[in-house]
Amino acid sequence: MTAQRQVVAEVLSDADDHPDVVEVHRRALLLDPQISVATVYRTVRLLEETGVVERHDFRDGRSRYEETPANHHDHLIDLTSGLVIEFLDEEIEALQEAVARRLGYRLVGHRLELYAQPLPRSVAD
Ligand SMILES: [Zn+2]
Repeated sequence: MTAQRQVVAEVLSDADDHPDVVEVHRRALLLDPQISVATVYRTVRLLEETGVVERHDFRDGRSRYEETPANHHDHLIDLTSGLVIEFLDEEIEALQEAVARRLGYRLVGHRLELYAQPLPRSVAD
């Protein structure tokens, strides 16, 4: 692994959010002031191809990246604030497996993104 690839991998390993390339570059510059946005872009694509990171499209026109999680989770995207919440729901997991089985398949993976607006406080309480 080249030094610059190491830097990008480290940034994504340290991240507990889902940064886009511009944000990964901003963080990478703190570790390597010479690293270019083009290098970061190329490197995240490479890390994606090799399965080290996952790319997400949360419908705001920017690809987001996260280190491939050891444990699966899904995402809820707050369309008002852009906040991305990670969650795991056993009922949804089981339901997806049941749907695949009913259609004659064994489920090997899925992507689930919920796009949502925050409830008014009176409804949320
Ligand atoms: Zn995530």
